[in-house]
Amino acid sequence: MNAATSSAPALELQDVFKVYKEGPIETVALRGVSMRIEPGEYVALCGPSGCGKSTLLNLVAGIALPTAGRVRVCGAEVGGQTETERALMRRSVGLVFQSDNLFPRLTVLENVQLPARLAGRGDAAKLAAAAIENVGVGSLGGRYPAQLSGGERQRVAIAAAIALAPTVLLADEVTGELDSRTGQVVLDLLTRLNRETGLTIVAVTHNPAAAASAHRVVNMRDGAIRELELAG
Ligand code: ADP
Repeated sequence: MNAATSSAPALELQDVFKVYKEGPIETVALRGVSMRIEPGEYVALCGPSGCGKSTLLNLVAGIALPTAGRVRVCGAEVGGQTETERALMRRSVGLVFQSDNLFPRLTVLENVQLPARLAGRGDAAKLAAAAIENVGVGSLGGRYPAQLSGGERQRVAIAAAIALAPTVLLADEVTGELDSRTGQVVLDLLTRLNRETGLTIVAVTHNPAAAASAHRVVNMRDGAIRELELAG
C-alpha cells in the first residue's frame, strides 16, 4: 500500500525528537516538534544558531532519522521501510545549501543533470536544460562553477534541486554568502518558483528579507517551535 496521497500535507512532523549521542554526551536537538506544511506553502524557519533548524531539514531530507516521532513527506514516512516510499521520498524533496552545492569538475549542465542521472532518468539532459533555462542561467550550461558568480552558483544549485520537479524544496541559508542585492535575486527566484509551480518551500534563514518572502514564519528555540505567525 502506498501511504502517500495527493491530499496529504507536503510535510508533517509529529512529536519529533532528535538526540545526538557522542560517547557519554547527549544533545537534544529537537524536543517534541510538531508541524504541518501544506502543498504550495512557502515557510521560513528562523531561530538562533543551534536551535535545531538544520537538524529538522536533515530529518525531512532523510539524511538523518528521528530518535522518536514521525516525519512524513507527501504522506510517506521518511525512513519508511518500503522501496516505494523511499523512491517517493527521493523524488519529493530537493535540497539547496548555503554553499558547496556544486561539483567543481562538472559543468553547469552536468551538475544539474546529476540528480536526474542518479535517479536513472533517460531524459536527464532535457530536464537539466529546462531547469537552467527556468532559473535564468540557460546560457551558462558549458561553464564550470568557478566561472560563475555566487548568485549564479546558487541559481544553478536551485536548478539541480528542481530538475526532477520535487514537491518540496528545502533551502538552508541559501543567501547566507551573497550580498543583499544578489541575495534578493535568489529570493525572487524562489518566490517565482513557489507562485508559478506551486513548489512548497521551507527556507532556513537569518535574513529578514528572506523571511519576508515567505507566507509563514516558524520560529524555533532550543529544539522547539516557539510560535507561528504570518509574515508581514
Ligand atoms: P541550527 O541549524 O539551528 O544552527 P542544528 O540543528 O545544527 O541547529 O543543531 C542543533 C543542536 O544539535 C546543536 O546543539 C548542535 O550542536 C547539535 N548537533 C547538530 N548536529 C550534530 C551532530 N551531528 N552531532 C552532535 N550534535 C549535533
